[in-house]
Amino acid sequence: MDKLIVHDIGDGCHVDIYDDLYALKIDFGRSDVKKIEVDSFFHNYWWYKINAFLLSHFHNDHYNGLYAMIGPSSCRRVDIEVVYFPHQPVFNNSKIFFKQLAFLNRISMGDHSKSPQYDLIRLISSINNRDTFKYRALSQGDKFYLSNNEIEVLWPPSTIQNKRFVASVEKVISKFDETLEKFPDLKRLYIQFNQNENSLDSEGTIHTDEIEKIEEILEDRKILNSYTDTQLKDISDLNTDFRGIANRISLALKCGGNLLFMGDLESGEINKVIKYLKSKHTFNHCNIMITPHHGTNWGAKLMDIFIFHSISSNGREMIKYFKEDYKKISLTTHSTFLEGDIVYDFEE
Ligand SMILES: [Zn+2]
Ligand SMILES: [Zn+2]
Repeated sequence: MDKLIVHDIGDGCHVDIYDDLYALKIDFGRSDVKKIEVDSFFHNYWWYKINAFLLSHFHNDHYNGLYAMIGPSSCRRVDIEVVYFPHQPVFNNSKIFFKQLAFLNRISMGDHSKSPQYDLIRLISSINNRDTFKYRALSQGDKFYLSNNEIEVLWPPSTIQNKRFVASVEKVISKFDETLEKFPDLKRLYIQFNQNENSLDSEGTIHTDEIEKIEEILEDRKILNSYTDTQLKDISDLNTDFRGIANRISLALKCGGNLLFMGDLESGEINKVIKYLKSKHTFNHCNIMITPHHGTNWGAKLMDIFIFHSISSNGREMIKYFKEDYKKISLTTHSTFLEGDIVYDFEE
């Protein structure tokens, strides 16, 4: 690994890791993108070379930048051989949970398909210059390579039995059912949606001509247009609860002693990742950490490690919730909101 760029994308995430031959992009999106500004905002980024794309978790604000790359001029150097995304862990009621999560994505963000994984694959095949590419769902212990650099997956595990996690899932599932009771047309839509099977294996090869292309940025939120603000608040509260769980199963990665990437993990999972690192590797310090959830989440176990430079990918909103504790465990702390694009050269 030669170079790391944490782009200033606002309240979102956009990271590039380079060596001579290869470029891995991790996430590409931000939360406050208005459709109308997407094109001009992201057009600065279109020329970057991309050989692999990794999505830390299925939140639209971590990949909506890809929508802006649809269109002929943006495609020149998009040469994606492989797409990585988090494996969906198995836990009590996980099937129902992921179905409901996909449904909320569909109605709140206009995703059209049966599963978030399929949506991502379809999006990639709409911007990629290659006719075929591979995809792979990652979970704890998996390894993949960036040229000669081994990247190890620290989170999520393939199954979760943690009682508190399972209880939180049960809670959001009942809230989903209660909320849908108030919205008969949404309920009808969910029953229809529920009949679709989510059919993507954990790894495979995609031939882009077998996939229906996206011609333009999707904006199908018609169902929600008929609701009042109070009704919309119910749906948006529900969405927030589901997002909390999705953060907890986002990807965390380690690249040697150089890089720790913590996704949008929340405190319980941050602690588990650090424990895992300490037990499996004699891990005490790391060159760079990209802080969890834009620097707004913290776990007490982080006090057991030392980071030379911590970088938070944040904007105007997220920086308000930055955890000052990061200053205790890192030599320098950085913020894209304060500093713009942050470039780190590992060779220097
Ligand atoms: Zn998130
Ligand atoms: Zn995020």
